[in-house]
Amino acid sequence: MKFPALVKDALRTLFRALLKPATERYPEKEKVEVPDGFRGIHRIDLEKCVGCGLCAKDCPAGAIKMVKMQGTKGLGVPIIDLGRCIFCFQCAESCPRGAIEPTKRFSRVVRDAGDLVLGMMPNATRQLGGSQ
Ligand code: SF4
Ligand code: SF4
Repeated sequence: MKFPALVKDALRTLFRALLKPATERYPEKEKVEVPDGFRGIHRIDLEKCVGCGLCAKDCPAGAIKMVKMQGTKGLGVPIIDLGRCIFCFQCAESCPRGAIEPTKRFSRVVRDAGDLVLGMMPNATRQLGGSQ
């Protein structure tokens, strides 16, 4: 007989509705806290960068390209395609100058895939669709 099973399911659903949700209401909730050590979107300090290209060489996802611009040193500056990145942070491990570090920003919601390419901005990450 199916009726008792339906009642059981309804009661279970009702009970769960009274519990604190296990997940955050994102993006409705404006600020979502992430733990220390979270590996979010990179911060690249181009003042520290010497253009050695080790970050690009060691990136397992091929997400970093070195781009020559006026006034840049060595092989140029790293630009990171967050659409390819797997957030392993080998790039930060490999950087001899400590020029790359993770931030707590994680939102990669963009309209244009080109906006997922990060770099070119000294001491800053490009703001990507979120407030983290
Ligand atoms: S975090 Fe990993 S995948 Fe992303 S750019 Fe750095 S080395 Fe490449
Ligand atoms: S490894 Fe560091 S210093 Fe070398 S190009 Fe990358 S960010 Fe610049």
